[in-house]
Amino acid sequence: MANYAEDAFLQLSGIQHFAFCPRQWALIHLEQQWADNVRTIEGNILHQRAHDAGLAEKRGNTLTLRDVRIHSRRLGIAGACDVVEFYADENGVSLTGRSGRWRPCPVEYKRGKPKEHQADALQLCAQALCLEEMLGCTLDGGMLYYGEERRRYPVCFDTSLREAVETALSRMHDYAARGYTPRARSTKGCNACSLKDICLPKLKRCPSARAYLRAAVEEVKGCENC
Ligand code: SF4
Repeated sequence: MANYAEDAFLQLSGIQHFAFCPRQWALIHLEQQWADNVRTIEGNILHQRAHDAGLAEKRGNTLTLRDVRIHSRRLGIAGACDVVEFYADENGVSLTGRSGRWRPCPVEYKRGKPKEHQADALQLCAQALCLEEMLGCTLDGGMLYYGEERRRYPVCFDTSLREAVETALSRMHDYAARGYTPRARSTKGCNACSLKDICLPKLKRCPSARAYLRAAVEEVKGCENC
């Protein structure tokens, strides 16, 4: 993968949208469509809490930095880590303004519970790849914190996860360069999607707009007869 110019950088957090649904990512990041639902609002509140708690804190052998700005020229992404914890480690990296050496571990805050898909792990691993490029080190793993369960889950940055990140980002750059928005694919995930009223995934299942409108009218009639 070649180095990207800054004006071609993509928003790092978009990789979770892309993993969930490439069309959702394109609607948000290429067409600037956005619609909040309960899930996105709760997620924003949780992130705000993670970012509000102060920028740096040191306790014992752990240094905690919040809202850490990161980027990767190789991957063409920029964004922020909710939290990066640095553990004192003689095999770690040096940090500007800090004595000693430190081993970084990104921590990403999420609402809800762990999910079946790996969107959150991809986002965390993309953060790790940025930190590796910026700090000149290799990260073994990070943590995902889920608000509903109030606990952390470790994520291993193994080869398959790293490759999945690079593949997703390569496709995202391709779509961005072409201004391509994939067609809707109606899945069970659509019910939880904040963009379903913009995307209209059911429209694709109908042979024509007339058939879609007829089906919508029948649905309303059905409700009136309830
Ligand atoms: S409604 Fe479904 S197809 Fe449309 S953007 Fe959301 S998840 Fe993707």
